[in-house]
Amino acid sequence: MPSWSDGESTDDSLLSEFDHGHNISPRPPMPESILLHEFTGYEDCDMRCKHDMPMYRYVCFEGANTGRRFLGCGCKEEVMCDTVHWVDHEWPCTLKKSLVKIWTMYEEERDSRIHGNVEYATKNYQLVLQKKELEKKNLELHKQLGDTLEYVAEATSHELEVAKRQEAELQVASLKEEKKKLEFEMARRLKAEEDVATLMEEKKKVEVEVAKRLQAEGIIASLKEEKRQLEYYVADLLKAHHAHKEKMKKIAEICSLE
Ligand SMILES: [Zn+2]
Repeated sequence: MPSWSDGESTDDSLLSEFDHGHNISPRPPMPESILLHEFTGYEDCDMRCKHDMPMYRYVCFEGANTGRRFLGCGCKEEVMCDTVHWVDHEWPCTLKKSLVKIWTMYEEERDSRIHGNVEYATKNYQLVLQKKELEKKNLELHKQLGDTLEYVAEATSHELEVAKRQEAELQVASLKEEKKKLEFEMARRLKAEEDVATLMEEKKKVEVEVAKRLQAEGIIASLKEEKRQLEYYVADLLKAHHAHKEKMKKIAEICSLE
């Protein structure tokens, strides 16, 4: 059943119209019809359709016969036959032309809607494709961002590593410098200790020398004392000798006098 445009059709109605306009199921052999409660149900008469079924009441809803009542195939579920018996007389020519005009306008409107729907669907499909493409690019950007962040983290880690290494190298250089100073200091101290040992040795030698000299001086003093004693002794001897000489002279004199 077609629907007239009221300017507020929903997507569902558009789709239903689209489906209606592209219905490829085989058209029933009878005219299109609508259900009217005033004229429906089986007709109480002797007429039969090709299925030998009672005739059913229809109201035509297509072309120049729109609104004309007719009796048709009474089958509900089987394939309908083309038995048609018009109840109303043919419409006046002006009414038929008006109805054809209205149906033409409807079909043009429907085709326009179908065309619009196709354009809408095409644009929608393109938008879906663009959205998918954008989502794909977004994913790629996310991945690139992740890779970049990972690279930055690695680079930062590397820089920290380099900075740590440089700091460690500086510390090693400083320690080497300190080690060199300590070695120099130890060498200087060893040299000083050697000098002290040498001086101690020389001091000891000097002390020995001094002791020897002191001992020699003692001996010299003793010898001087002995010499002085000997001189006294010699002087006494000379004195005694002189006295003996005097005695001998006096004795000689005495002897010569006798
Ligand atoms: Zn039939």
